Amino acid sequence: MILDQYSFGIGDRFAQQGEAQLHAILKARELGIELVPVWNKSNREHQIIHSTPADTRAEADSAVMNLKWGHAYFVDADHINLGTVDPYVPHSDFFTLDVADYIGSQVSENEVLEFLEVAAKFKGELNIEGIEKPFLIDQSFLRGVAGQFLGAIREASAIYRRIAELKGHHDFVAEVSMDEVERPQTPAELFFILLMIHHYDIPAQTIAPKFTGRFNKGVDYVGNVEQFRQEFEEDLLVIDQAIRTFGIRDNLKLSVHSGSDKFSIYPVMGALIKKHDKGIHVKTAGTTWLEEVIGLAMSGGKALKMAQEIYARAYARQEELCGPYSSVIDIDPSSLPSPKEVRGWNGDQFAHALRHDPSHPDYHPGFRQLIHVGYKVAAELGSAFLDMVKEHSEVVAHQVTTNIFERHIKRLFNL
Ligand SMILES: [Zn+2]
Repeated sequence: MILDQYSFGIGDRFAQQGEAQLHAILKARELGIELVPVWNKSNREHQIIHSTPADTRAEADSAVMNLKWGHAYFVDADHINLGTVDPYVPHSDFFTLDVADYIGSQVSENEVLEFLEVAAKFKGELNIEGIEKPFLIDQSFLRGVAGQFLGAIREASAIYRRIAELKGHHDFVAEVSMDEVERPQTPAELFFILLMIHHYDIPAQTIAPKFTGRFNKGVDYVGNVEQFRQEFEEDLLVIDQAIRTFGIRDNLKLSVHSGSDKFSIYPVMGALIKKHDKGIHVKTAGTTWLEEVIGLAMSGGKALKMAQEIYARAYARQEELCGPYSSVIDIDPSSLPSPKEVRGWNGDQFAHALRHDPSHPDYHPGFRQLIHVGYKVAAELGSAFLDMVKEHSEVVAHQVTTNIFERHIKRLFNL
């Protein structure tokens, strides 16, 4: 199973908007971008919503059937590990092996020595084509890299083999992710991480390194765009060199766990993959849920009331809702409008505060992020919420498609 050159990861908390999401991908194809969808959902999301990996699969299959989608599509078991992967296996064909927790974990001295032997031929000056300055590789650097990353890649290999064992075949897409860590990997580190992936025989098709800056959920990139540009380009060059040097899969590409809405760096990534003729996987978060809330607000009446109620409840439970996401959101509580104030808003005001249009004076990133993590509140409303979304499905679907196509895909592919 081969992942296409351009793939786009979409999250859908309540599994209602598969068709609207796929519509956005179809629009890209109409403009000549051969993009394929990957429906991703993490274990954390499933637990909060009480959904299962089978629901995501059903959503994807039905969207694909109803829209007569004739291309590849995937269902991503997002950020899984050995403890969480099993229930995903029958329903997923894309697995994001999250080994961030295993960075720095112990590996037997024998295994370290085996790797050092393989890596020894790169000692001295390591030149990465396209990067001006060579990297100095000595035994202590290799020891350090092995100490940091060998345990993580070994763990990725164990998860990979567990999936193959349960599936009974190796025909699925594997991604190795180490984005949820403190500091970006250097180009030299990435080179040796890829050597480890080769050494442990993981046919990874995507790798998600950590990039500089903050990738908060549902809002724009916070960081140094120039530094990001350099890191991203160096990562592309390192992958190229690894493909040429030790023969890892030649379709290996970068996966960017964007957390959605990284408007200021989408064009940077788009220009660089074009320059180097590389593929990309951009994973977005479950921001489709925010379009559902926007659609409800715009519908007015009881639907607007429900949107206001969701905000009021989320406002009252900020600590509980933000807790699991503390490293990927950034809300100034004092900036948040009171529930009373929000109850006085009309649908347009609510929609403008929530919709990510940075140029609109009413856009409120704190309001947006709080509702983003507030999906638990909607999950608790159960069928009342789902029925309301269905009742206003036309307005909602239009928001979902427009968001993905106009704000994400167009910026990424410079359309
Ligand atoms: Zn991630």
